[in-house]
Amino acid sequence: MADTVEAPFLPFAKPSISQAAIDEVAECLRSGWITTGPRTKKFEGMLCDYLSAPSAQACASGTAGLLMALLSLDLEPGDEVITTAMTFVATLNTIVLAGGKPVVVDVEPGTYNIDPALVEAAITPKTRAIMPVHFAGLPVDLDKLYALAQKHNLRVIEDAAHAIGTEYKGKRIGSFGDTQVFSFHPNKNMTTGEGGCVTTQDKSMQKRINLLRFHGIDREAWNRFAKEGTPQYDITLAGYKFNMMDMQAALGLHQLPALDGFITTRTRFVERYYEKLSSWEALVLPQAPDYECRHAWHLFAPCINPEVAGMDRDQLMSALKEHGIGTGLHYQAPHLSTYYHEQWGMQPGDCPHAERISDTVLSLPLFPDMTEADQDRVITALAKVLKIG
Ligand SMILES: *Cc1c(COP(=O)(O)O)cnc(C)c1O
Repeated sequence: MADTVEAPFLPFAKPSISQAAIDEVAECLRSGWITTGPRTKKFEGMLCDYLSAPSAQACASGTAGLLMALLSLDLEPGDEVITTAMTFVATLNTIVLAGGKPVVVDVEPGTYNIDPALVEAAITPKTRAIMPVHFAGLPVDLDKLYALAQKHNLRVIEDAAHAIGTEYKGKRIGSFGDTQVFSFHPNKNMTTGEGGCVTTQDKSMQKRINLLRFHGIDREAWNRFAKEGTPQYDITLAGYKFNMMDMQAALGLHQLPALDGFITTRTRFVERYYEKLSSWEALVLPQAPDYECRHAWHLFAPCINPEVAGMDRDQLMSALKEHGIGTGLHYQAPHLSTYYHEQWGMQPGDCPHAERISDTVLSLPLFPDMTEADQDRVITALAKVLKIG
């Protein structure tokens, strides 16, 4: 309609990049050292401090981090890794790429997190590791998972892509347990453009990741060319090119100190969503767990109740789009995709809760730089489309 003034499109996520971060990237570019170097080292140190982790190894992406952590387990053909049916496909793909067999189990319907009882039922003599995902920044029940891991002698690789800043029973994800992998993709709670990091209590995994991350060369590039470095090196395995650039770390140096503020703002918006939407029968909102935690609120992802709403999720998403409101889909259950069906025999009915979520979930706009007026636009559009009030 030509006579209406259109409000700008509201995306479901947007990174908050400060002027200081932009200046830091420019300084990095001018410094003559763009790839892995002093800024990456400094960023890793800050991550260790923030996470209370023994090590934090920055890398090219969360996916690269997951792959390196899994490769460090030396999986043999047929070895199984149990993971969740409600995740991004990278979680499953990296298991396959590391030579393992992905075994997906269903989630708890209220939290979308892997159901520990189903994990136990899925353990076989071939199981080597459990790979939970802290969905949307809500920690899985780690006491239960680590008890299972200990009982059955399994490794735990936490896909913590959503969980930087998450706390479980007063402890920060990354400060305890086995291994965690974080993502700094632009949609995540903090970003380095692309990027990720691995934290692990396992010293031999730290060494292995150092090699895997950079061609199998046992030293950082900057050390090789620094005054005190020597140009000779040895190769002890065929590694990848998964290092983080200083240009990326330059962003991280300013994102990490802002993270707690981002999470506070996200939490405030989520509280407002609960306040306004809880009584709507057309929507089913995510539930809190029965243990103490700090939710990082990477996503706010309710499900539509199609019977009450009189429409399905896809129709709701396109109607919101017509109102200038962006939404996200986290996630289409990966076990229903062609590859996992054809190559691994996964099929509809394997994980009913995840499949229902996959069909009905949508992520509403949630990012630190949005305003209450933006959020009110989301709620007004939702009410209009769902014919509420
Ligand atoms: C984003 C994400 C990843 C991958 O992280 P990238 O940094 O994009 O490679 C893996 N697992 C989950 C659950 C994610 O959300």
